Amino acid sequence: MSKAHNILILPGDGIGPEVMEPIKKLITYFNSKGATFETSEDVVGGAGYDKYGTSLDDSTLAKAKAADVVMLGAVGGPKWDKVDYAKRPEAALLKLRKELDLFANLRPAIVFDALIDASSLKPEYVRGLDIMIVRELCGGVYFGEPRGIFDLGNGQRKGVNTQVYTTSEIHRVARVAFELARKRGNKVCSCEKGNVMESGRLWREEVTALHAAEYKDVELSHMYADAAAMVLLRNPKSFDVIVTDNLFGDILSDEASMLTGSLGMLPSASLGAPDANGKQSAMYEPIHGSAPDIAGQDKANPLATILSFAMALKYSFNMPKECAALERAVSSVLEANIRTGDIAAAGVKPVGTQAMGDAVLKALIAG
Ligand code: NAD
Repeated sequence: MSKAHNILILPGDGIGPEVMEPIKKLITYFNSKGATFETSEDVVGGAGYDKYGTSLDDSTLAKAKAADVVMLGAVGGPKWDKVDYAKRPEAALLKLRKELDLFANLRPAIVFDALIDASSLKPEYVRGLDIMIVRELCGGVYFGEPRGIFDLGNGQRKGVNTQVYTTSEIHRVARVAFELARKRGNKVCSCEKGNVMESGRLWREEVTALHAAEYKDVELSHMYADAAAMVLLRNPKSFDVIVTDNLFGDILSDEASMLTGSLGMLPSASLGAPDANGKQSAMYEPIHGSAPDIAGQDKANPLATILSFAMALKYSFNMPKECAALERAVSSVLEANIRTGDIAAAGVKPVGTQAMGDAVLKALIAG
């Protein structure tokens, strides 16, 4: 019998539990076709705080570490706005990323033909767009020391954050980008600000060295991050894979996401390094939040979560055919004009979250 694939489902708060329901149905379907998914579920975020008194309990973290894949919905909401900084729902996400050492954040920006009008750019700029941004997630200025707000004693204060990267931190994320490129358009564009930052100069030198040593078959280019922000708007299809640090990746991936239209369509993956047994930590989640304004109303678009699960099929479970079939099912549902409210065309009655999930499952079964 083939080895079971363990998935820890963490629906979280707000629309999280709603968008996770279709995933459970997809897992049941794939198991009926011979897959070996075993699932367990726990609470995280505000729901974790309510149950355990902290947004990520140690027992939940242990389950996440043991799982092959974590599927996360979303965390947060006004109910927990006054909770202590260290225990607030969003702290659970940062802790999961840090503890699982999820250093590579993959954010695809894909424009489905049926949704081309939802993009903020003209159709000719984004038709067929399919780029992948790989953002370094565990280092850089968000974690560097020293950091803090310091009183200078003369009526002035000083805010400090430190941008810091080492050779191995740069190599491991660049390696993810090169490997991905080999399975896509075979191009990597590395972005930094080496013109004004030493850490950026090191980034460029190390990416260049790794490329020369191991990835000469992949086309490598370098761009300053501010220039990349412009090219993303002027000629986004010129990119295949972009690799960049935590800060610039945060900004560039949000910018790229707007090329595709709705927040409800955008998946993500966060990957760690394979251990000695080849096990690689991985967490898949939609990029949207818990959307308290529509929570509990069956209005949320589940496609970002469904596409995140498709990424898990491809990157964690080595099931590229099933991934492609699921992405095709999403595409065919959109072409059939079945839409949730956030992406509904004028005059088309939107469907609810669960009906959208069921439509994708039906399209998947129909092949
Ligand atoms: P949000 O992404 O939750 O919502 C922004 C807007 O987009 C809202 O109008 C919402 O209704 C809409 N939207 C989001 N997802 C949608 C979907 N799937 N279908 C249809 N519409 C959708 O961002 P926010 O309002 O700034 O944050 C709400 C809460 O979520 C906050 O507590 C925030 O901290 C948290 N948050 C969590 C994550 C995460 O869990 N990864 C990410 C961002 C924000």
